[in-house]
Amino acid sequence: MIPPGATIGVLGGGQLGRMLAMAAARLGYRVHVFEPEMGCPAGRVSAREINAAYTDREALREFARGVDVVTYEFENIPLAALETVAEFVPVRPRGPALHICQNREREKNFLRANGIPCAPFWVVDSAASLAVALEELGGAGVLKTADFGYDGKGQMRVNASDDAAEIWQRFGGHRAVLEGWVDFTHELSVVCARGLDGETSVFPVVENRHTNHILDFSIVPARVPAAAQAEARAMAQTIAGALDVVGLITTEFFLTRDGRVLVNELAPRPHNSGHFTLDACVSSQFEQQVRAVCGLPLGSTDLLRPVVMVNLLGDLWRNGAPEWPALLADAAVKLHLYGKGEARPGRKMGHFCVLSEFPADALARAEAIKQRLSGDGEKMNDHGPALSE
Ligand code: AMP
Repeated sequence: MIPPGATIGVLGGGQLGRMLAMAAARLGYRVHVFEPEMGCPAGRVSAREINAAYTDREALREFARGVDVVTYEFENIPLAALETVAEFVPVRPRGPALHICQNREREKNFLRANGIPCAPFWVVDSAASLAVALEELGGAGVLKTADFGYDGKGQMRVNASDDAAEIWQRFGGHRAVLEGWVDFTHELSVVCARGLDGETSVFPVVENRHTNHILDFSIVPARVPAAAQAEARAMAQTIAGALDVVGLITTEFFLTRDGRVLVNELAPRPHNSGHFTLDACVSSQFEQQVRAVCGLPLGSTDLLRPVVMVNLLGDLWRNGAPEWPALLADAAVKLHLYGKGEARPGRKMGHFCVLSEFPADALARAEAIKQRLSGDGEKMNDHGPALSE
């Protein structure tokens, strides 16, 4: 057990690290952040910020010597960095969980090996293997790079009738996973915490709406049947156990038109779709992360009120910062800004939550506010589709 008063090290200094540091401070912990870029969102609310590359072993050692436990807030950290840190302090979740989740091929194989339902997939590493996979697929699919990729980057829609050699060339010849196209009605996610003793605790199921492959709205409670929610929550717990996670693991799902729950992706960390927990749950995902990685009992994940979360992307800063007083005029709106200097299109600058006793009311108000912020009828996120046809 790492008691309040101790220091938590966080690899990665983005908004997830920032909200984690704020939750940690509330519980009496200090946070040191390790992040390549200076002046990061998490560094601004932490006791110490170390700026160095993830390959800088000396800097990693210095960071590790100054903290009592290490966790991370994004998954593209080289495994070697985790291993260097782990020579000095416990790293939670441990390396193997990160290793699986940071590569789509390993992730899919893990799901298959554990009998967890996901879209049919084939690993391809050449035009010839793609041709075979497309023939077996026999319909629509999506080609995704095996290595790092997020928010729809490194993805390409394909069809069994396409020319494999041409697609392979256009895709850049990266080792990839070909996935069958899923006819889904809803995208869902579940944040699950798992403690040192193996106890798990799941947050309510979230219904997610994406725009241009970036999360736009998260709606809780999700408007899907209770049976599908129970299935998603159970799967999230199974995954947390199978990966031996100590900390958080987020699972994203598709709910298919014929009612099946399929896993899309895993992330061994807090998640954008879990931000609603800050304002609408007894414990937030960040508090839960602190509790889990420090070996404290996990907190209640009960939902206090229906809620809708909306992301604020850099696109909204096109003509200067949005009119915050107008947004805050709705007294049930909770605004979160990440303290990022430069607003680029697609960059996550903040989010807001609308709470209401009535779910439909929360959604209508959230949509109206988003519409007002975007400007009348102006197209949002006009930085082009991330997914090439
Ligand atoms: P990903 O980066 O894998 O989460 O994909 C980004 C988004 O693309 C998802 O949130 C879905 O909206 C869509 N997508 C990804 N894979 C599939 C699939 N196999 N079938 C249908 N839509 C998909």
